Amino acid sequence: MDHILKGAPVAAAIKEKLCEEAEQLAARGITPALAVLEFGERADNAAYLRGIRKNAEACGVQLKHVVLPEDSTQGAAAAMLGQLNDDASVHGILLLRPLPKQLNEAALCAAIRPEKDVDCATDLSLAGVFAGKDLGFSPCTAQAVIEILKYYGVPLAGTNCAVVGRSLVVGRPLAMLLLQENATVTLCHSKTKDLPAVTRRADIVIAAMGRAKALGAEHFSEDQILIDVGIHRLEDGSLSGDIDFAAAEPKAEAITPVPGGVGAVTTAVLLAHVTEAAAKHAEG
Ligand code: NAP
Repeated sequence: MDHILKGAPVAAAIKEKLCEEAEQLAARGITPALAVLEFGERADNAAYLRGIRKNAEACGVQLKHVVLPEDSTQGAAAAMLGQLNDDASVHGILLLRPLPKQLNEAALCAAIRPEKDVDCATDLSLAGVFAGKDLGFSPCTAQAVIEILKYYGVPLAGTNCAVVGRSLVVGRPLAMLLLQENATVTLCHSKTKDLPAVTRRADIVIAAMGRAKALGAEHFSEDQILIDVGIHRLEDGSLSGDIDFAAAEPKAEAITPVPGGVGAVTTAVLLAHVTEAAAKHAEG
């Protein structure tokens, strides 16, 4: 196995397959389309959007970037979501979060039509992940972690995985996806006692805590697989994950870099979901 688990080859493999699917759809006159809804143009969304745009163009997926004013009312936001739901040329909807404070995020997520919910914003999609049923799409980041582990041939069945972070966007659904692969999962959070002891026992540690370099040498034992979901801009302008890479890398059997790890795969998974949504729509 590679020591540095780069996201690029994983993303390339996913994109190759989705480009073929998009071509087949194009031959039937269907262009898969993703609508990204944003409130004000946030600097921290810009890089993610650039990645989506570049990859979408390369894969034959159309991107509709819809920007509403940052001070939009709940009614205006819901009305736009309604329009996108009813627009037959839009197959996937991505609501960029966090939303401005005046907006009710839960209500807006719930308003996305389930078949267009390509990043698991609705309760129905999430229920599908938890029940192991094909009710919607998995959260792209959680699925990106699974794609990386599978691409690099990391065995999952029977392995001990420590997932650090229990958000509904990443940690919790990821724990469910790992369970579906027959891993034994320990889901850690800010109240976990003696986190280093828990992570040191695991075969695979996945960091999704939103704390820059929070997991250091004391959290790891030799020869583990380390997956870093976190992404942070440090004061010196560089990017870091939740894992202190310099401290962890020498001990690890394999580790994802930041940048160039999980984030690189998330966009490819998102576009694959859009293509799948378009194919399902075409089948009626
Ligand atoms: P979040 O909603 O802030 O959740 C953080 C989780 O980490 C919470 O469950 C929290 O526990 C736990 N946590 C915080 N401090 C901890 C500590 N000291 N020890 C143990 N657990 C701790 O974050 P998120 O949305 O899941 O995102 C996590 C990270 O992934 C962020 O860095 C985010 O930027 C990144 N991210 C990356 C991508 C990508 O494509 N690469 C996509 C989405 C997010 P409690 O529940 O107890 O508070």
